[in-house]
Amino acid sequence: MATVKGDVHDIGKNIVGVVLGCNNYKVVDLGVMVPAERIIDAAIEEGADVIGLSGLITPSLDEMVHVARELERRGVRKPLLIGGATTSRTHTAVKIAPVASFPVIHVLDASKAVPVVGSLLSSEGRVAYADAVRSEYERVRSEYARRSDARNFLSLDQARDNALSVDPAQIAPAPRKPGVHAFDHIDLAMLRNYIDWTPFFLSWELKGRYPAIFDDPVMGSQAKTLFDDATRLLDEIVSSGAFRARAVCGVFPARRDGEDDIIVDGSTTLHFLRQQGKKAQGLPNLSLADFIVDSSGLPDGTSDHIGAFAVCIGDGVDELAARYVRDNDDYSAILVKALADRLAEACAEWLHERVRQDIWGYETQAPSAVSMLLDEQYQGIRPAPGYPACPDHTEKPTLFRLLDAPSSIGISLTESMAMVPASSVSGWYFAHPQATYFAVNGILADQLHDYAARKAMDVADMQRWLAPNLVEGR
Ligand code: SAH
Repeated sequence: MATVKGDVHDIGKNIVGVVLGCNNYKVVDLGVMVPAERIIDAAIEEGADVIGLSGLITPSLDEMVHVARELERRGVRKPLLIGGATTSRTHTAVKIAPVASFPVIHVLDASKAVPVVGSLLSSEGRVAYADAVRSEYERVRSEYARRSDARNFLSLDQARDNALSVDPAQIAPAPRKPGVHAFDHIDLAMLRNYIDWTPFFLSWELKGRYPAIFDDPVMGSQAKTLFDDATRLLDEIVSSGAFRARAVCGVFPARRDGEDDIIVDGSTTLHFLRQQGKKAQGLPNLSLADFIVDSSGLPDGTSDHIGAFAVCIGDGVDELAARYVRDNDDYSAILVKALADRLAEACAEWLHERVRQDIWGYETQAPSAVSMLLDEQYQGIRPAPGYPACPDHTEKPTLFRLLDAPSSIGISLTESMAMVPASSVSGWYFAHPQATYFAVNGILADQLHDYAARKAMDVADMQRWLAPNLVEGR
């Protein structure tokens, strides 16, 4: 098992490893950022019966196709398991399985890993199982082909004609505290109050909302035990200051340039993608650029603004996890990383509030209860590059440059644009009351070419980065 090259996330993979280990499989875990060659060499050396790939960010999807191709080329035709947050049955069926002559199977979560591996290795059932998966994926591919029919999409020009025009009278005021602000050693005891526990349970495959999950007849007691363990560990982390929380943010003058770009501080251009899927009557084809007005709608001397932020929980996370691994306590090692992720999201929530209340200062009412923050009951959004509203990861270097993030808080990017340390969150702040989260989803070749030209990037290069969004069309 390995997290593929360019990706640093391993909570899901480690959980699968523990679950398979408990079921008497011998698991060889190659760690994170593992190149194809090393995965294949290890599979040969160890005589692996099954190979598992994991990844969280979208560029890892392409890397998984590459690994499958390399396995095929080198004749290592062992079943391949695909897992991780952005992986899907559709992507596995459409992009990975067709390059392989061996079974390629999407494993939705750790609890499915045991029965899938069991079926793949059973001497009586393996052929029938592989056949069943093959015909299921055949169906998935034809459904995908039907959905990606170009007739379900607008041309880029038509999509732009259906853009959202936000009300220029409602733009947020200029920031109270302009410029870039960095925070070091943020108080962990304060940050823990901003933790959203629901996704924490989800990462352990306990699907229910916190705190109601404790009353669930099936999961309740397990959830409680997990929560108690996590709380105890978090107490220790907070009191010993084992992690270091850092953040940086800034609010800058901004104007929309054309339909889909935003110019920040008069000099830096941000590029956004626009939805091209046909919409129901009255619904716009959105781009995040719609939430910033061009200067023509504004009185002289005023301007719209955009914010940028990055936060990370570093210094100590990997060390503490490694200590538990050395003590043969894989469970606590996974808990450490899951808590670091929770604290990073908590830090993003805390910072966003601080920006609305003080740095940008457009929020006039007193701070809301944390539960309302976690339900996004406030004005403004913080979309993250690589996520559905702005799926292009290659905008991250621009974001980091604006904030000077590598030197101010020590976050760096891998070749797949994964942030290191792994427990990092970054994104844009849009303050307009009409700003909402959405998904760009499928885009056509016209937008790919337009976007590559705007970014002065090779179309082939851009095509690789946007592969998960590209509709092949027919
Ligand atoms: N409270 C949650 C928040 C994480 S998910 C937690 O602790 O895990 C929500 C975050 O993901 C948002 O704040 C935003 O940064 C990002 N996000 C969600 N939907 C998005 C979308 N459609 N486009 C871009 N970013 C999105």
